[in-house]
Formats: sequence, structure tokens, C-alpha cells
Amino acid sequence: MILPGATLGVVGGGQLARMFAMRARTMGYRVVVLEPSPRSPAGAVADHQIEAPYDDAEALRDLAEQCDAVTTEFENVPADALRALAASLPVTPPAHAVAIAQDRILEKEHLQRSGFPTAPFVPVRTRADAAAGFATVGGPAILKTSRFGYDGKGQASVSDAASTAAAFDEFGGRECILERRLDLEVELSVVLARGRDGAVAAFPAGENRHVGGILDLTVVPARVRPPLAGEARDLAVAVAESLEYVGVLGVELFVAGGGRLYVNEVAPRPHNSGHYTIDACACDQFEQQVRTLCGLPLGDPRLVTPAAMVNLLGDAWRQGEPRWDRALAVPGVRLHLYGKSEARPGRKMGHLTAVGTDIDRVVAAAEGARAALTT
Ligand code: ADP
Ligand code: MG
Repeated sequence: MILPGATLGVVGGGQLARMFAMRARTMGYRVVVLEPSPRSPAGAVADHQIEAPYDDAEALRDLAEQCDAVTTEFENVPADALRALAASLPVTPPAHAVAIAQDRILEKEHLQRSGFPTAPFVPVRTRADAAAGFATVGGPAILKTSRFGYDGKGQASVSDAASTAAAFDEFGGRECILERRLDLEVELSVVLARGRDGAVAAFPAGENRHVGGILDLTVVPARVRPPLAGEARDLAVAVAESLEYVGVLGVELFVAGGGRLYVNEVAPRPHNSGHYTIDACACDQFEQQVRTLCGLPLGDPRLVTPAAMVNLLGDAWRQGEPRWDRALAVPGVRLHLYGKSEARPGRKMGHLTAVGTDIDRVVAAAEGARAALTT
């Protein structure tokens, strides 16, 4: 066990690392961030930031020397960097799981091989694969770059073989997967923590709405028939076990085809749809990240109150500084800002969480508070 007073490292300096660092420091740990951009959201709240690329060998040695254990905030950390760190200190999540999660082809193939339901897909490595693949998946589809996609970036809707080949060219001939577009009834996600000993604590399934490929709203409990939420949780736990996962994992799920669950993708880290846990659960996802990293007992994932979370994108700054006073005047609403200096459209700047007793009113409070920022 790595106990309070020890130093925890995090690779990546964005909002997820920031919320991890804040929670770790609350619990009495020191925190060191590895991140190339100066004045990063996480660096601003950490004890120290090493300003260097994630794959810089010297910086990784420095991080390993300063820390007792290391975690990461995103899937695009080179898996080799995690392997190098793991040679000298505890690292979660494990490099093998990150290697799968950071590559959509490996990820989808792993899910399929393990028997989990996914949308029909084919790997696309050549222009010929792209054209032939369309016939295989059958029907409207989405071409997604295999690596480095997020928030709907690196995705194109395609409707025939020619548009699939054109989209492949547009992505510069990079490896992709072509995936049938499902008629979604609702999107769910399950965030869970899994310890080195295989103990699992799963948060309840969240109901997610995406706008333009970016998460917009998470509602918990999900407004679906209760068995479906339980099935989603069981499915996510099975996915974590199939990956021999250790740490916090986000599992994104689709509901389509008359209440059937499909696994969309996994995120080897705390998940945007799990931010509500900070305000609504007995133990939040960032504390679970600390606990799994340090080999401590897992916290209680119990939902203490219904909650709704809405993201704040840079668009909210279009007419100047948002009216924080108006949002904060809405009962049950709390503000989380990530300390990013530049508000670009589509950039995640923060979120609002509303809690209360009646779920529809909680959703209205979160959305109303966000609308009040710009009116
Ligand atoms: P990202 O890494 O950008 O989150 P996702 O694969 O999760 O990529 O896609 C983002 C969103 O696009 C999903 O949450 C969903 O709303 C939509 N989407 C992705 N794949 C499909 C699909 N096969 N069918 C229908 N909608 C999809
Ligand atoms: Mg996604």
C-alpha cells in the first residue's frame, strides 16, 4: 500500500489530471504532473510539473525518481512510456490495457473476441478495404480513425463505398475502423474501479446525451428500465475483467435494436460522464483512481443523490465572461472550472452538476443554470 504522504505522478496535465491531483492532495499525497504545455490545468494545482513530452525518456526517469506510483489521465500516452515506468514503480492503468484502448481496431477486436456485443465493424487499412468494407457492414456507417480520435474528431459519416474511400483519403490513409451507424435509443456509460486484487466497485450507469460528438449531459440514475441499467453495469464489469484492468475505467454503451446493449468504447481513465460522482456519490471517480493506484480499499460507489451534469464548452464565452452568478443562484447547482485560459469553441472548459430529489427537476436545474450563463 502506498500511503498518504507519498508522491503520486500523473501523465497528462488536463482536467482529468487536475481533478485527480486535487483529490490526491485532499487525501494527503504529493502530486507531480508530466505535461509539455506550461501552466496546465493540472500543473496549476499539483506540487510540481515536469514540462516535457510524455515519451521523453529523461522526463520519464525524473518522474519515476520523484514518485512512488504513476497514473495517467488519457489514452494517448504512449503505452511504451507506461511500460518503461512500470519497470521501476507501480503504474495504473496497466500498459497492456491502454495499448488496446488507444487503438480502435485492437479495442473492437478485443471486445468481439471476448464475446461482447458491438456494432458491426471492419478494420480499414487500405483504400480497397474502405470500399469493400462498406458492403460488409451494410448500411450507413461511420469511418473512425483508429488512433487519436476524441469528442467525435476523426470521424466521418459515410453512405456508400465511394464516400467511404473518400473519407479514408481525407484522413490521410491512416488506419481506421468502419462501423455500422446504429439507430441509438439512448447512450449509457458505466465508470468503475478495479483493484489489483480484482475487487470491483462500479458506479451506477449514467444516461448520456452527445451533441456534435461531444458529451453534453449525463443523468444518473439513467432514465431506462432498471434491469437495463443493471445489465449495463454487469457488462462493463465483464469488460474490465476481460482486460485484466486495474484502475478507473469508463465503458461507453449504446442501446439500440429494441433495448439491446452494445459496447462502444472504453476509456482507461476517469470519464467525463463520471464527473457527477464528485457531487453525488459516497466516493468519487478520482478518489477511486487514487485508491486503485495506491492499493487501498476501494471506496463506496453508492449514489447518494440523483444528479445531472452538463459540460461547459468554450462556446459559452462567445459573448464574454459567462454570468457565473446566475448559474450559482440555481439551488443544488455546483460549478467546476478547469483553469484553461483560452476558451475555444468545442473545448471543454468546465461542467455544472445539479443534485436534488426529483430527476427531471435536477436535469432542468443543470440545463437552466447553463442557459443562464449566456442570457
Ligand atoms: P469518441 O472517441 O469521439 O468519443 P465515439 O466512438 O464514442 O468516439 O463516438 C462519439 C459519439 O458518436 C458517440 O457517443 C455516439 O453519439 C456517436 N456514435 C459513434 N459511433 C456510433 C455508431 N456506430 N452508431 C451511432 N452513433 C455512433
Ligand atoms: Mg466516446
